[in-house]
Amino acid sequence: MNLRIPGPTPLPQRVIDAMARQMINHRSAEFGNMLGSILERLRTIFATQHDVLPITASGTGGLEAAIENFFSPGDEIIATSIGYFGNRWIEIAQRHGLRVIILQKPWGSAVKRDELAAALGEHPACKAVLLTHAETSTGAVNNIPILADIAASRFGKLVFVDAVSSLGALPLETDAWQLDVVVTASQKALMAPPGLSFISVSDRAWNAHETAKISRYFFDLTIAKALLKEGQTPSTPPVSVCFGIDASLDMILEEGMAEVVARHKRIAERFRADVVSAGWSLFADPSCFSDTVTALNVPEGVDGRRMMNRLEKEYGIAVGGGLGSLSGKILRIAHMGNVSQNDMDDVVYALRELKGG
Ligand SMILES: *Cc1c(COP(=O)(O)O)cnc(C)c1O
Repeated sequence: MNLRIPGPTPLPQRVIDAMARQMINHRSAEFGNMLGSILERLRTIFATQHDVLPITASGTGGLEAAIENFFSPGDEIIATSIGYFGNRWIEIAQRHGLRVIILQKPWGSAVKRDELAAALGEHPACKAVLLTHAETSTGAVNNIPILADIAASRFGKLVFVDAVSSLGALPLETDAWQLDVVVTASQKALMAPPGLSFISVSDRAWNAHETAKISRYFFDLTIAKALLKEGQTPSTPPVSVCFGIDASLDMILEEGMAEVVARHKRIAERFRADVVSAGWSLFADPSCFSDTVTALNVPEGVDGRRMMNRLEKEYGIAVGGGLGSLSGKILRIAHMGNVSQNDMDDVVYALRELKGG
């Protein structure tokens, strides 16, 4: 199966092989050394000197940890949303009692600098801004450095970024862009199985953590940080996923982040051009195409779910459908992580035939 859903993404054989082994003691030096090395390499990929901590959960758990650890009930934040995952983070924040000022954009678009500046100007009491990097539900990407610069430099706010489907594929500079909390997960561009998320925490964010009163247990970063000094995690870590990401990070760094980013850009640009020439139209605004996921408009009068079935049964290609109100209306095709030009050529071939009849 050519697995082109936006996560979990296909595992390289080397990652599969690395996981086919016996469990080890997660309180041993062997595990501690592996975890330390995983986090050290992730700091390179996050481009941060600050802490990166592991969380045993899928990306959503990482997003929840980001809310629970830095806020108190009643705190005001500005949450931007350009799609399904932006909305999810808003819902998490609301359920934890935050006062959420919502900057909602139409799906397929991105947040504009002036819109965020206006919202920040209107809400001087807000503590932080939530941003989605790549919005996996629409194939759109936010310009994080520009938005973070306004929020951090101009307004002095904490900047939180959902980079679940972008870190390891798109340029992201945690420290240089002044990002306080960045969340990612193992199963998208990082080419490992689902089960682990990672969160980076700036010094400013640790200060906010000191006074954050939302109750938490499983996701409490105080305990996680203390135990990490001994190479341990508060509860049993997903040992096999750690074996996998240990191998996938090696692969990413052997290729080199600059080349990884360049490969994603090359493949994405070519894919967009190829599907357009095959007669498809793209869902996202051309000003904000993401190089990780492309969303295609399903032709009027055609059921997208039927097309997905045909792609799977007749061509062996699994793609994502529309989430929420876009169900049946778009196809989402991932090209992140373990992806080659050949993989995408096969998708283009099938899409050309589907369009023809
Ligand atoms: C996949 C994804 C999530 C949710 O992650 P899970 O691992 O499914 O919990 C959140 N945000 C974005 C941008 C994603 O792509």
